[in-house]
Amino acid sequence: MRQLSEVDRDAIRIAQDPHFSRWLEQITATGGCAHPVHLSGSTTTLDGTTGEILRQYDTRDEPGERLLVRCRNRRATVCAPCSRLHAGDTFHLVRAGLMGGKNVPTAVRNRPRLFVTLTAPSFGPVHRAGERCRPRRDGGACEHGRPLGCGTEHAATDPLIGQPLCPDCYDYNGHVLWHAHASKLWDRFVIDVRRRLASSVGLVQSGFADHARLSFARVAEYQKRAAVHVHAVIRLDGPDGPTDEPPAWGTTDRLTDAVRASAGRVLVRTPYSPSVGEIVFRWGAQLDVRPLHADSAGSGDDAVAAYVAKYVTKGASETGAGTDHKVTTRADIDTAPVSEHVRTLMRTCWRLGGLPEYASLRLRTWIHSLGYRGHILTKSRAYSTTYAALRAERAQHVGHTEIPGAVTDSHWRYVGSGHTPGAALIAAGVAEDVAINRAAAAESSQPGGGAV
Ligand SMILES: [Zn+2]
Ligand SMILES: [Zn+2]
Ligand SMILES: [Zn+2]
Repeated sequence: MRQLSEVDRDAIRIAQDPHFSRWLEQITATGGCAHPVHLSGSTTTLDGTTGEILRQYDTRDEPGERLLVRCRNRRATVCAPCSRLHAGDTFHLVRAGLMGGKNVPTAVRNRPRLFVTLTAPSFGPVHRAGERCRPRRDGGACEHGRPLGCGTEHAATDPLIGQPLCPDCYDYNGHVLWHAHASKLWDRFVIDVRRRLASSVGLVQSGFADHARLSFARVAEYQKRAAVHVHAVIRLDGPDGPTDEPPAWGTTDRLTDAVRASAGRVLVRTPYSPSVGEIVFRWGAQLDVRPLHADSAGSGDDAVAAYVAKYVTKGASETGAGTDHKVTTRADIDTAPVSEHVRTLMRTCWRLGGLPEYASLRLRTWIHSLGYRGHILTKSRAYSTTYAALRAERAQHVGHTEIPGAVTDSHWRYVGSGHTPGAALIAAGVAEDVAINRAAAAESSQPGGGAV
């Protein structure tokens, strides 16, 4: 035993425990979650009329008197198995809004649907990949003595990409405040699209809801320069949503025109600050509006759904923007494993977060996401299904069916989280098995494949 590592000795201790097989069942039920939540408690299901106990579960009978449940983190860098599950759910959620399924009628695929990308404005030139970075024939330097151009052809992996040409010229206040207002700008954009549609057909704006309904799912993505931009699926239905046909005037062309006009028009103002002033934000000049055409195979829709799902798994550490965990002190900012550019953005959050005029933006709470406090994925209520519904569907597949007329009484308490080193090793093995099985299942479900 002495030559074995601490991890191995711990794994052996766990495997020799008399409750090992039940513990392994729990680990398997979490899919090998890397940071499971430990719960203590009980749930009792009673017959609603007779009071008879139909089902009872208590963690007193479990190994360590606890139940392990998934952390459900969406970031692959934090928990790979849970992020895979989350990405799968996101894919189905976005796809159902495009093609139907999951209680959404398939007729949605014939509705006007757009895939839209809205960008952040510029806060100053940054190095970029591709051709020559920022060629300038006449050279020139900024007031800090740094060159205004860059003639390098940066390799895709060059850490300079996304970093400002001059950090002293770069508008860090603007960048952070943009993040703090991006969700509000999105809300105004959606309201304005509805208004535009209404006025384009001579409806009073308040009458829009009687004629049509606009639904969306959007995902926020950090670009190389660590500024959030937005990809969104936007769909036009009749007033009742997915089950309802839009009016005759509700065409793809009309929706496209409204989206383009609103994207160029809406604005949001920051609160006035004696040191920063008032900033007026609009979307960046780069705008992409792509109509999604209904074809029988729906391959374009699948691609869009997969594209959106990919973004939700990206952690801050993977995109190089911010950190995966909250930052609470100045020292955390100094030691965070981020680029100087991102560190400066974090410091800007800290500094502006201390100003009373920005208190409502809670910038110090959102340092790890560089001031952006929205969700990574946001959707309107009528877009498609929900994460909760997808989880419930999965629970039914593993046998936790609802009993009609039953009453459930549950009491749960958080008692810890994570794994010991040996448990982490075993959980990683379980996660790997799940991934291999999933890949094999996907292969055998391919047309023409799996003829065994
Ligand atoms: Zn997890
Ligand atoms: Zn450059
Ligand atoms: Zn400068």
